[in-house]
Amino acid sequence: MALALARKYRPRRFSDLLVQDHVAQVLRGAVLKGRVGHGYLLTGPRGVGKTTAARILAMALNCERKGQVEPAGEPCGECESCQRIWHGSASLDVVEIDAASNRGVDDARELRERAMYAASKEGHHKVYIVDEAHMLTREAWNALLKILEEPPPGVVFVFATTEPQKIAQMAAPVLSRLQRFDFRRIGPAAIRDRLRGVLSEERIEADDDALTLIARQADGGMRDALSVLDQCLSFGEGGVTALRVREILGLVADEVYDELLALLTARRPAGVFALLDRLDESGADLVEFLGGAGEVLRSLLMLEVGARPEGLTEAMQHTLERYRGQLAQGDLLRMLKLLGESEGSIRKSSSPRLSVETLLLRWVLLDRTVDLEALLSGAARTGGGSPPEPPSRRAVEPPAPRVAPPPASAPEARAPQPAPELRAEFTLEGLQRAWPDLVLVARAQGRFLGEALAAARPVSAEPPLVGLSVAEGHPMHREALERQRDAVQALLGRILGAPVRLGISGTGSTPATSRARRLSEAESRAERLKVLKGRDPALEAAADSLDLEVLD
Ligand SMILES: [Zn+2]
Repeated sequence: MALALARKYRPRRFSDLLVQDHVAQVLRGAVLKGRVGHGYLLTGPRGVGKTTAARILAMALNCERKGQVEPAGEPCGECESCQRIWHGSASLDVVEIDAASNRGVDDARELRERAMYAASKEGHHKVYIVDEAHMLTREAWNALLKILEEPPPGVVFVFATTEPQKIAQMAAPVLSRLQRFDFRRIGPAAIRDRLRGVLSEERIEADDDALTLIARQADGGMRDALSVLDQCLSFGEGGVTALRVREILGLVADEVYDELLALLTARRPAGVFALLDRLDESGADLVEFLGGAGEVLRSLLMLEVGARPEGLTEAMQHTLERYRGQLAQGDLLRMLKLLGESEGSIRKSSSPRLSVETLLLRWVLLDRTVDLEALLSGAARTGGGSPPEPPSRRAVEPPAPRVAPPPASAPEARAPQPAPELRAEFTLEGLQRAWPDLVLVARAQGRFLGEALAAARPVSAEPPLVGLSVAEGHPMHREALERQRDAVQALLGRILGAPVRLGISGTGSTPATSRARRLSEAESRAERLKVLKGRDPALEAAADSLDLEVLD
């Protein structure tokens, strides 16, 4: 049973054009008022209805029941003239030209000569539909320009193209004489709805995921979507299922992408080989797999930034929900960048498996590189704001504590501010004991804050209140503390393990801060490094492997 749904359900009226209401309205109005122009340019991606719209315009202009159709301006779609045009069969009044195969000067000349013949009947229009118009030669455009400068009555040119910029480059004067319509891409949701409508009219069962897959694969083209549906049905009984759609389109199962995400989040490089073995055995197309993997990462990134990815099967939506929050946005971006960089070479490669394997391994191993980068940029950031120097000469300064935790605690490692490990009892004595270390932590967090705290000492601690006193003669530090009250409260809160409200006074004497202040700059650096190295093996490894020096 050959249904040929793509043909059967191709629109016959302007109002059937999916998501192109803006075009439909204007063209219908023009026909109704008898104000159809001599030249139209229909642009947009393939499969969105450009040629169909051109045919409907031709039908509407030459319909035998013109004026009797509702809504006004539409063709009836059923009279002999409408039928002929709709089927693309020979019509005296409509000429379809495929510029991809008809681009010579001779054709242009012929076109010009033919355009001189009026329409076959009184009240009819001669419509030229030029498909793939960007393929026309400069000579052809020149000939067309002459026609459009003095158009014979009743002649309408409709140019359809996916690449209007090429026409703009080659034939700007022609372009300025055309009325342009930009056709919109048909989104997966609109395609899915339309497929659903067609199927219910045909009384055919289909599962939602099957339609989602078709809609996504059709990439905005309604015609393609309907022909996939046709292929599904030509398989025989059993309706339209996701499994069948995958078979027809050669798609990789959602489970494979689930497995891929598991490898990436758990950082299991060894699993890459097993995954590729399975793909090989199932005869999957690796380029198709990569395309799908890119879609999955992109969808996950969209979720992470609060956008809603379209066209996902239900199974995939659940998968993504499970992995949400496990890969940092920056990592996802880097993975997509790596994919973009290697996609071309993988397509051309004689051993795509090796290239795909390499890419997946780079994805899985990506995080370590990132942590190191973060550590080093953290080190550079606390280096007084000077531009980074070559690593061998750069002093290792402790990075801000927020990048310090070792990579083992993966997801938390990327969280903006895990607590430092310094802890103190919420008592004056506890706070005083921890003060020198607290100053070190604060210095690592920000130079000014560290100096300001070094110039202060705790004078009271009764939850939630902490009183600090700034040494006399340091109005600048007192100001700094006032300004960074929130940061100080947060830091103290983390160390004391409870919310803190800060009181600052300026009458303290110096002795309490003496220990911190007595540390020379060099001692403090060395000590800071030691503290942080001990806390973070990754920093130690990074410093050692890059042979960084500690400046004394
Ligand atoms: Zn008609």
